[in-house]
Amino acid sequence: MKMAVYRGERHVEVADVPKPAVVKSGDALVRVTVAGVCGSDLHIYEGRVPGCEGWGMGHEFVGVVEQVGPEVHRFKPGDRVVSSFYIACGHCEYCRRGWTNQCVERGAFGYGEFFGALGGAQAEFITVPLADTTLEAIPDGITDEQAIFVGDILATGFFAAERAEIKPGDSVAVIGAGPVGLMAIMCAQLFGPARVFVIDMVDSRLEFAQGIGAVPINATETHPVEAIKAQTGGYGADRSIECVGVLEAVQTAIECVRGGGTISMVGIPNHTIGDFPYLDVWQRSLTFRAGWCNVQPHMRPLLDLIAAGRLKPESIISHRMKLDQADEAYRIFDARQATKIVLTP
Ligand SMILES: [Zn+2]
Ligand SMILES: [Zn+2]
Repeated sequence: MKMAVYRGERHVEVADVPKPAVVKSGDALVRVTVAGVCGSDLHIYEGRVPGCEGWGMGHEFVGVVEQVGPEVHRFKPGDRVVSSFYIACGHCEYCRRGWTNQCVERGAFGYGEFFGALGGAQAEFITVPLADTTLEAIPDGITDEQAIFVGDILATGFFAAERAEIKPGDSVAVIGAGPVGLMAIMCAQLFGPARVFVIDMVDSRLEFAQGIGAVPINATETHPVEAIKAQTGGYGADRSIECVGVLEAVQTAIECVRGGGTISMVGIPNHTIGDFPYLDVWQRSLTFRAGWCNVQPHMRPLLDLIAAGRLKPESIISHRMKLDQADEAYRIFDARQATKIVLTP
């Protein structure tokens, strides 16, 4: 079968590899119908993640179950499914508390030996371990292109908005209008804010964000913290959601909230450490939250919100390409010429 394989920095090749199989009793074999190219794939593509060379790429996918192991109870061949981007067991102490991202058996698809040694989803087939917890059935009426978002970036946007503790009437600042930022804007709106500001440096991204109801602020033209203060009576936003992962964006997320505000950071940090403004956070009684999403508990409610027409994540898809074009897809995504690319085998 065909799979997008990482060959080294900025080199992805669609190669012929052996078809994966059901190996463990909890595995499901899924025929992939749509796979996404995600911003976090670029961490691998740009050469920052060790242990990925020769491994399959991709962690966002939907498909049809082909075969299941004897301990898979929730799915059978023929079921349409969406997968979380990482596996979780469903019964460890973390999973039972809803913290699937801390699962003792966690591992992410498409991250090679760095994280779980699982298959890549930008492929014709993929083996899904711990399938009962990792997959969710797609209800009739929801398309593959809608469902794919609940396995990663829409769940991340919701996780970010939920942890920002948005109350009706709040003002919210979203830092970054990339795919995750756009999902965060959509999800923030579920909590009833009066205004959602969005900070970015690219006009086309800001225009899209404005189209889904956000107030755009271009950080190359104006100081974003001053702009938000000017529009909130000098106080700052009630909540901020950081969706970039670079230190300057985290700094902006902290500075743009009022005293007593909450910062929710989901951008994957590009640095392991940096200065943290302890005194400022203490003096202004800020709440700072960071982390990556508990996907599994969010998949079902998010599918229901899509079915109800309250979330339209598929609106951000800018490019539909064939799996064979994966190398080109990575090239244009890396060049920031595409908002969201989906691949079909
Ligand atoms: Zn992702
Ligand atoms: Zn677990």
